[in-house]
Amino acid sequence: MTNKSNKRTLKQDYLIISRAIKLINTSTPHLLLHINIFSFCYAATYVASNYITAAIIDELVGNRDIKKLIILISCYSLEIIFRILRDKSWRKVRSFHIIANKWEEMLLNEKNFSMDYKNMENSKIKAMRQTITDSSGDTARFSGLVGRLVTFFNAFWRGILAFGVSLEMFFMHSDRILSGFQKFIDSPLATLLFFVIIAALTFFDYKANGKYSHLIADNMKKCSYSGRLLHYYLNDYLDDSKTGKDVRIFSQQKLVNYSSDIFYNEWKNHKNDWFSNEKKKGMWHNGFWVAMTALTYLYVAIKVYIGSFGLGSFVKYQWCVSKIASATFLFAMAIADLRANNDFLELFFEYLDIPTDMHYGTIPTEKRMDNKYDIEFHNVSFKYPNTDKYAIKNLNLKFKVGDRIAVVGMNGSGKTTMIKLLCRLYDPTEGYITLNGIDIQKYDYEDYLKLFSVVFQDFKLFSFSVGENVAASVDYDEEKVWSSLEKAGMLERVKAMPKGLKTPVYKDFEEDGVEISGGEAQKLAIARALYKDAAFVILDEPTASLDPIAEHEIYSRFNDMVKDKTAVYISHRLSSCRFCDRILVFDNGQLIQDGSHETLLENPNGKYSELWNAQAQYYAENKPLNPSSLKSNKT
Ligand code: ADP
Repeated sequence: MTNKSNKRTLKQDYLIISRAIKLINTSTPHLLLHINIFSFCYAATYVASNYITAAIIDELVGNRDIKKLIILISCYSLEIIFRILRDKSWRKVRSFHIIANKWEEMLLNEKNFSMDYKNMENSKIKAMRQTITDSSGDTARFSGLVGRLVTFFNAFWRGILAFGVSLEMFFMHSDRILSGFQKFIDSPLATLLFFVIIAALTFFDYKANGKYSHLIADNMKKCSYSGRLLHYYLNDYLDDSKTGKDVRIFSQQKLVNYSSDIFYNEWKNHKNDWFSNEKKKGMWHNGFWVAMTALTYLYVAIKVYIGSFGLGSFVKYQWCVSKIASATFLFAMAIADLRANNDFLELFFEYLDIPTDMHYGTIPTEKRMDNKYDIEFHNVSFKYPNTDKYAIKNLNLKFKVGDRIAVVGMNGSGKTTMIKLLCRLYDPTEGYITLNGIDIQKYDYEDYLKLFSVVFQDFKLFSFSVGENVAASVDYDEEKVWSSLEKAGMLERVKAMPKGLKTPVYKDFEEDGVEISGGEAQKLAIARALYKDAAFVILDEPTASLDPIAEHEIYSRFNDMVKDKTAVYISHRLSSCRFCDRILVFDNGQLIQDGSHETLLENPNGKYSELWNAQAQYYAENKPLNPSSLKSNKT
């Protein structure tokens, strides 16, 4: 995270903190009030007990009035009220502190769900998300804010109360007749001067502390960077059995040793600087602190000596002055820390404020039993954000109900992009798409998405139960899940699992979870697509890692399952989609051919014939491979 704390004004920092507090209040109401009650009671407990102790000492060395002493001692019991209030508020503060990180992740998740998909893929936004999740721990983020607010208000109330008590010093004078230096010490002017010197010493302590803290933070950052690189070489890289192969085959040991030596030395140097700055910081702080304490003892002792106040007050004022100094120091540090923590909060809010640009329409989609949904692309062109190249160019295309459509073409020809536009993960840069004659942007977004069931190439299953994975929901219709599993060819496998539909997929969280093969995962993903029972089903190369014949089998079986729905199959392997009535050939973002397998092959110079002839040799049964065509085939 870049250090922006120096660039923000005090007002900007204040606005960020107050927004954060408002947000926290939605989860833990009145947090600031609780912090203040806690801090006030905490400070009051100590100031009051010190005050009473001083009064008791004064009474013991003075009049020794038993009644007064009993009253003073019983005053201690009042402390219990402060303690009860203090602990009650602290529990509230603490409970937020504990949930803070999880609560924050939930906020991020909500944002991720509602974010335009184009932003999910945007590299700058991805980097923002990474930085937010990387800045973890109790010392940053919202939990850091709360911790720092506690320090801030603790210091504030302790300082104010201690200052309030020590103001008495201005009004306490000796009964004796004094002259010269003693008279000056007894005067309010000397007390004022004393406070000014204490304030100056505290200020210098704060400045020195700030200077070294910055240097230490810088050393730590550098240390962590070289430490991460070192860790990568020593642990991640060498430890990984997969890299172990590369290390041996390419004799990478020397390279690794050389690089890790460099990073180790760098890391050691930064660590030395870090400790040397820690030492200097400690020396300055101790020096200022001893000077201030000595001065306070001296001043207050002289006041007692000349009779300005009694022995009890010596204890009280010495304590109060040292508390004012430490509180001022902590107060200033807390402000600096709060402002530094705003780097995170600012980024977090920037992320939450990323606008949702997709046009969210309001028209509900028609619910049709006959699945009569016609979709048409009207001269659609599309460029990905921050790119100049068209991924789709002038696409005119109509999907009719019940169509079986194959979309083929080389990698990068625009097949997946066309599906993303169809499912409104992106909106066209030019042109528009209609559903039953109405621009799809006018439909309610969530309602529109219900029309599609897509199995993407990089589909994800969760470490939840099989049933929840298939239904994509906690509540599901068991019969429908079984029937989808049966159609997807996973019935027997799931039946044999220890807990049936309730069996967790993968062993991430549960001992009795099942590890499944790539092919089984695909079947579960297909079962999920079937369970959704959407009008359009799309397979976007989820089987790319399988061999062409296995892919062809899965595609054809899927075709039998989807019956009256409109089905779109994407593959860069033409054989997988041969059964489709209609084949769309994409090349360089453009739809260049549209027809059945047979009609497309009639054009020997067309892209389809070129691809078909090049690929056919790989999987045509009993046909020898032609080495020259292997070289030319890039798909
Ligand atoms: P296909 O599915 O045919 O392999 P795609 O539709 O995925 O091709 O990609 C079409 C073009 O768009 C390619 O040039 C690809 O590099 C580019 N592209 C795909 N996704 C993105 C993205 N998120 N950002 C920028 N360019 C992309």
